[in-house]
Amino acid sequence: MHEVSIAQSIIEIVSGQCRKGGYSGITSIRVRIGRASGIMPDALLFAFDAIKVESPATGAVLEIEEVCVSGRCRDCGRDFSVEEEYVLNCPLCGGPAFEIKTGREMEIIDMEVTE
Ligand SMILES: [Zn+2]
Repeated sequence: MHEVSIAQSIIEIVSGQCRKGGYSGITSIRVRIGRASGIMPDALLFAFDAIKVESPATGAVLEIEEVCVSGRCRDCGRDFSVEEEYVLNCPLCGGPAFEIKTGREMEIIDMEVTE
């Protein structure tokens, strides 16, 4: 499952930060996930909770901020954002030429630690 490896890398990154900073544990981690990233937030939470045991993130809560898919159309020149996970045509004019600006991200925004 895709989300398991993502959860693993999140835990590796924050555990590294935790060790470097000499903190005793992590209480929360905030991540930003685009709707078009292919990551299911529920599956990621589930994987995270299963893997976090035995890591400095064992007591951590994973907070997921979802980012909708947005872009700019090259035909009509307008910006759009959609609720779907993908865009096949510009939702404003139906044109096939557009640029996706957000929705593909997967990043750690910040984390809270205990000293
Ligand atoms: Zn358009």
